[in-house]
Amino acid sequence: MPTLTATEKMRLWREQNPEKARALNKAQYLANREKMSKQKKRWKAEHPERTKELNNASYHRTKGRSAIVKKAYLKTDRGKAINCAKESRRRERLAQVDVGDDLSLEYAEILRYDPCSYCGDAGKIAIDHIDPLNGGGDGSWTNLTAACKKCNTSKRDKTLLGWLR
Ligand SMILES: [Zn+2]
Repeated sequence: MPTLTATEKMRLWREQNPEKARALNKAQYLANREKMSKQKKRWKAEHPERTKELNNASYHRTKGRSAIVKKAYLKTDRGKAINCAKESRRRERLAQVDVGDDLSLEYAEILRYDPCSYCGDAGKIAIDHIDPLNGGGDGSWTNLTAACKKCNTSKRDKTLLGWLR
């Protein structure tokens, strides 16, 4: 029988003791991981600026990847179902503002990204009926505009002129 090198002996032992070999691998991995994580922590403490840069880069990398994953996910049956539920929730939410038809629904969705048409505030936007519903106004798109919560609450059921006066 030829003499075995240490590496060959080790390989033989691993082949004959797969369970023990796995346990050993795990222990080595854990010990190594602890060491690595300590080293990483120390390096991060010593290089705060570089750490910030790397974190930033990793954020953007993951962001791009998660967009791809999301796109693929939306093509699966489950993704489609979830997206469909989301869409119907969006329609429900918009329906709460009492918009007349699909055109005003679409317009209301666009308005949500506009600043307040009364004061220019770019915060959270509500859909306002310029002529209030209980004052003869309707839900058609020409009667809708973007209003911040503050203006929307202050205007309430008043007509535009009535409120501005
Ligand atoms: Zn406003």
